[in-house]
Amino acid sequence: MVLTDEQKSLQETASRFARERLAPDYQKREKHGILERDLIAEMGSLGLLGVDLPESVGGLGVDSVTTGVIAEALAYGDFNISQLPVNVSLNGAILMRHAQPEIRDHWVPRMVSGNAVVAICLTEPRGGSDAGNMQLRARKHGSDYILNGEKTSITFADRADAYLVFARTGVPDAGAKGVTAFFIPGKTPGISRTCFNDVGSAIIGRGSVFLDDVRIPLNHRVGDEGKGFSQVMQGFDYSRALIALQCCGAAQASLDETWAYARDREAFGRPIGNFQGVSFPLAEGESQIGSIRQLSFHTLALRDAGQKHTAEAAMVKWMGPKAAFDVIHQCLLTFGHYGWSKDLPHQQRLRDVMGLEIGDGTAGIMKLLIARERLGRAAAG
Ligand SMILES: Cc1cc2nc3c(=O)[nH]c(=O)nc-3n(C[C@H](O)[C@H](O)[C@H](O)COP(=O)(O)OP(=O)(O)OC[C@H]3O[C@@H](n4cnc5c(N)ncnc54)[C@H](O)[C@@H]3O)c2cc1C
Repeated sequence: MVLTDEQKSLQETASRFARERLAPDYQKREKHGILERDLIAEMGSLGLLGVDLPESVGGLGVDSVTTGVIAEALAYGDFNISQLPVNVSLNGAILMRHAQPEIRDHWVPRMVSGNAVVAICLTEPRGGSDAGNMQLRARKHGSDYILNGEKTSITFADRADAYLVFARTGVPDAGAKGVTAFFIPGKTPGISRTCFNDVGSAIIGRGSVFLDDVRIPLNHRVGDEGKGFSQVMQGFDYSRALIALQCCGAAQASLDETWAYARDREAFGRPIGNFQGVSFPLAEGESQIGSIRQLSFHTLALRDAGQKHTAEAAMVKWMGPKAAFDVIHQCLLTFGHYGWSKDLPHQQRLRDVMGLEIGDGTAGIMKLLIARERLGRAAAG
C-alpha cells in the first residue's frame, strides 16, 4: 500500500504521539488499570479519533485506509489505547447512519473530540458467537422502551459514558430477526456495571452491564425496530480489519525492539543476529505481519470502493491476533531471560493481543464467515 501525502502526514502525527505519549507509560497504565481520559481528549484534539467521520461532527472525512493507518501507528505505542480510534469509527459510523439527529448531534462530536466513550453491547452470558440468540429484552411502554437483562464481556463496561445495546424486541428465540439497537446514556437509572480481572488489557475495563427496568424514550432507538442485525452490524467488517492492523502495530513494535537487541546482544563471541536460528524466525515474523498488513489495507480499500469485504475482513481478523501473538512470543524468547521479566513490554503485548483472538469474534467464527462467503450459508452451516 503506497500512502498519499495526507495519509503520511496523519501517520506521522499518530506515530509521534505513540512514541512520545503512549509507549513510555504502556506498562504503567496496565499497573494502574485506569483509562486516562486526558490522553483520549489529547488524541481528539490532535484529530486522531473518528477521522473517517464527516467534518460536520469533527472528523476529517478521510477514508477507511487512513483510519487503519492511524490505528496501527497508535498500537505501536499502546495496543489498548489504539482501541479508542477503532471504537469511535465503528460506533460513530453506526450513529451517523442510524441514530436520530438529536442523539447523533449530541454524542458523535463528543466521541470524536475524545470526551465521550461509547461501549458496544452484544454479548450475553449465554454466548457471544451465536450473537443473534440474545435474551435481553426491550418492550415498548407508551412513549418509552423499557430494557431488562445483562450484557457481558463488554469493552469499557464500567467506564463508558453511553452504551449501544442490542436487545430483543420481537418474539423470543427468533434468532437475529427481532433484534433492535438502542443508545443508552450511562447515567440512565437502572444501569449497573462490573469490571473483570482480565489476563490483559486492564485499562479497557471489560465487564458486565446490567439493565434493570432501564427506561429510554423512543428516539433512543438506533435504526428500525427488528433491524439491529441487518442495519447496524454491517460495521463489524470494518472494525475487524482495523483490529488486525492494531495487532500488526503491536507485533511490529516487538519486532523492531528485537532486531535492535539481536544486533547488540552477543553470544559465542558474535551478535546473536549472526545466527540464522535467531534472525530467520524474526524474518518470518516480518513476512507474516507484512502480509497481514497488506491484506488488511486491501480490505479497507475494498470498503472505500464500496465493494464487499466480509471474507477478507474475517481472514485478517483471525490471522492478525494469532500471528501477532506468535511473533511477539518469538520476540520474547529472543530476549532470553530478560524477555521473561515484566520489565520488558513483550509479555504485556502478548496478553493484550490474545484478547482479540476472542473479542469481536473468535477464529472459529471468522472461518465460518469465510466458508459461508465461498459455499453459501446453506452449504457452510
Ligand atoms: C477482550 C475482549 C473484548 C470484548 N469486547 C466485547 C464488546 O465490547 N462487546 C461485546 O458485545 N462483546 C465483547 N467481547 C465478547 C466476544 O465478542 C465474545 O467473547 C466472542 O464473540 C465469543 O463468544 P463467547 O465468549 O460467548 O464464546 P462461545 O460463543 O461460547 O464459544 C465458545 C467456543 O466455541 C467456539 N464456537 C462456537 N460456535 C462455533 C461454531 N459454529 N464453529 C466453530 N467454533 C465455534 C468459539 O470459537 C469459542 O472458541 C469481548 C471479548 C473479549 C475477550
